[in-house]
Amino acid sequence: MKQFRCPTCRERVLFERERCRKCGTDLMFDPRQSMMRALSAPCANRALIGCNWIAGDGGALCACCELTRTIPDLGSARNVILWKKVEQAKRRLLYDLDRLGLPTVFARGPGLEQGPHLAFDILSEETAGHPIMTGHADGLITLNLAEADDAEREARRIALREGYRTLLGHVRHEVGHFYWDMLVAQSNWTIPFRAVFGDERADYQLALAAYHDRADRTFDPKGFISEYATSHPWEDWAETFAHFLHIVSTLDSAASLPLALGERARHTLADPYLESDFEALLWSWTPLADSLNELNRSVGQSEAYPFELSPAVKGKLHFVHMVIARFRNGRRRTAAPHAAADELTAAASSW
Ligand SMILES: [Zn+2]
Ligand SMILES: [Zn+2]
Ligand SMILES: [Zn+2]
Repeated sequence: MKQFRCPTCRERVLFERERCRKCGTDLMFDPRQSMMRALSAPCANRALIGCNWIAGDGGALCACCELTRTIPDLGSARNVILWKKVEQAKRRLLYDLDRLGLPTVFARGPGLEQGPHLAFDILSEETAGHPIMTGHADGLITLNLAEADDAEREARRIALREGYRTLLGHVRHEVGHFYWDMLVAQSNWTIPFRAVFGDERADYQLALAAYHDRADRTFDPKGFISEYATSHPWEDWAETFAHFLHIVSTLDSAASLPLALGERARHTLADPYLESDFEALLWSWTPLADSLNELNRSVGQSEAYPFELSPAVKGKLHFVHMVIARFRNGRRRTAAPHAAADELTAAASSW
């Protein structure tokens, strides 16, 4: 994420800040301008959960809080604390989507009413009294609030033998399903998608059940970014989509570090979200991920990015990159699948 500045004293302020540490100005983030402003029309959730975004046009809530359809039972103080963490991750997600030019609402057709859109149900198992499954259905993302509890999430990560489990990773993964529905399903991308990720018509429920029943938890990192990605092509896409967001967002943060960069890397880091050359993106990413991991190890933490990008995984990331770029370029329905497939084949041979 790029650096933001206090509108009063120009001090660097973090995305989540509500107040400038240097001059004390109360701050709010304006997503339309992608900048920090002095407080004037705060989101109605500011006092409750520290949302630091500006209220939306004519609404009491900001553009991010507005997407939350159901909030957890606020009778529980713990729920309030955890919900705050979920919204924090969601605001980063919304920022990513905006930078990528991906809308959260799609029209049914030109001039028609609102069609498919993103929405969130944030639910607590504790207060609901029944299990909550984190997942996605037609744009509605259900999040189990327990995933915002660091101790619980870490316990799940270890139980599931995952190298990485974060709230931000969850929301980036779940929206991946929505953008598959919007950008890939029933488009010219389906045939190339199947060539890269496999046939998504394989029974999803059966595939997930088989995945959860699997005794052998090993998987081939040459073909997949994570073990969960092996469960079904839809999950592979969602995992890859999340990783694409991890990469561009982290590169965006690196852009503000005092680094010695070559001309090409400087060009990529000027806006990694919009870098059109996927190879250039990876070329910047690989040394950064290695350095990030090494820095983490130096302070006694585990690796920040414990993943291996094999040639096949790079091919999948490249596919996500192309789908988003084509959409942004307004050629969603008319993209020539053969050209895309050729591009992919060419890319695959270079990895
Ligand atoms: Zn200031
Ligand atoms: Zn808000
Ligand atoms: Zn999923």
